[in-house]
Amino acid sequence: MKVQCCIVGGGPAGMMLGFLLARAGVTVAVLEKHADFLRDFRGDTVHPSTLNVIDELGLLDDFLKLPHHKISRFAGQFGDTRVQIADFSHLPVRCRYIAMMPQWDFLAFLAAHGRQYPDFALLMQADVQELIEADGRVCGVRAMVSGATVEIHADLVVGADGRHSTVRAKAGLEVDVLGAPMDVLWFRLAHKAGDPEEMMGRFDAGSILVMLDRGDYWQCAYVIAKGSAEKVRAAGIEKVRATISRLMPAFADRVGELRTMDDLKLLTVGVDRLKQWWKPGMLCIGDAAHTMSPIGGVGINIAIQDAVAASNILAAPLREGRLEDSDLAAVQERRLFPARATQAAQVFLQDRIIAPSLAGTDGGKVEVPFIVRLMQWFPVLRRLPARLMGMGVRPEHVRTSPG
Ligand SMILES: Cc1cc2nc3c(=O)[nH]c(=O)nc-3n(C[C@H](O)[C@H](O)[C@H](O)COP(=O)(O)OP(=O)(O)OC[C@H]3O[C@@H](n4cnc5c(N)ncnc54)[C@H](O)[C@@H]3O)c2cc1C
Repeated sequence: MKVQCCIVGGGPAGMMLGFLLARAGVTVAVLEKHADFLRDFRGDTVHPSTLNVIDELGLLDDFLKLPHHKISRFAGQFGDTRVQIADFSHLPVRCRYIAMMPQWDFLAFLAAHGRQYPDFALLMQADVQELIEADGRVCGVRAMVSGATVEIHADLVVGADGRHSTVRAKAGLEVDVLGAPMDVLWFRLAHKAGDPEEMMGRFDAGSILVMLDRGDYWQCAYVIAKGSAEKVRAAGIEKVRATISRLMPAFADRVGELRTMDDLKLLTVGVDRLKQWWKPGMLCIGDAAHTMSPIGGVGINIAIQDAVAASNILAAPLREGRLEDSDLAAVQERRLFPARATQAAQVFLQDRIIAPSLAGTDGGKVEVPFIVRLMQWFPVLRRLPARLMGMGVRPEHVRTSPG
């Protein structure tokens, strides 16, 4: 198989880039190792910046027909003090909310629209294992597709294969590890009439719980100290239920829904960034270039923004067969600042809020951080986290047209 662009990974970054390039007349193959888009929770937050991109593509009305739930505020509780942290209702965009939508619906939507273009191929169960190189340049990949080895040759290979990227490892790109003090145990609790309609974060000494309203259930993140999952598991489900009831007394009536520790799924958290996102013939974007912490729920959206920037810069050179290394460097140059600034904010919050909270002993006192107190005195300041979370740093706009 020979295409102009071979994209490894059918996550948010890969599917959006595949769709945009095919729409612009570039022949594309997206290779996804799973058989479908269904998998453990990886973030279902479609932020205003992504909704804007979908709007620019003329697909917003169709997109909003998919089942979703709107969130326009984020509240927190530190110890006994309840505070408002972000309010999206003032953003200068059409959709002033986060659309909570299962990620598989979002990816299936992009796949369905991609397939409308003859230049778009999506290969499922295609596990990329090697890069093909010639004359110091990446010129394709070797993948296991339904049990057989297949070679796909391309002018450009894009690694959009997430935090454990095979492409970046095989290319030998150097990674700066910024680190994270926490891991997350995910679980669900039923949503009941009268529950608050917002995203909530509860910070207490030794424990943090974040709850995302999914309409008929709550997606809950029990944040634990890095590497402590086995200890939490050994302490047993009763201890987890008691902690949740203490953090959110209103939910004590349903913690029995957690029957065993198997109802909690561990997702490890990491923050890192490639020093150089490309080498001749290949480029990394999304988590493969800069693995994001779940803080702010911005990872999907920054991956989408990378895809928009990459297609703006690369579509014409790829289509016209004149791709240069300088085009790949231009993508990194465009997206490095947003990735670096967002990760710096995540690391700041990890160090100032998450780590001290987790280091406390159960029952100890947690203070409202000064910056959050300021937001209560001056509500206009709540627009800043809303802007950063909702729109990101340097929002991208679709500059390509249907080819
Ligand atoms: C606990 C946790 C919670 C999070 N919550 C949120 C949230 O609420 N909101 C948010 O915006 N972000 C969240 N994130 C971050 C978010 O998941 C990522 O930033 C985002 O998914 C990155 O998108 P991506 O397309 O770059 O990579 P991914 O979404 O990781 O997609 C990579 C794709 O590549 C495929 N793949 C991998 N290797 C290969 C291979 N060798 N061959 C073929 N295919 C391959 C994978 O199957 C996958 O489909 C969270 C992260 C964590 C750890």
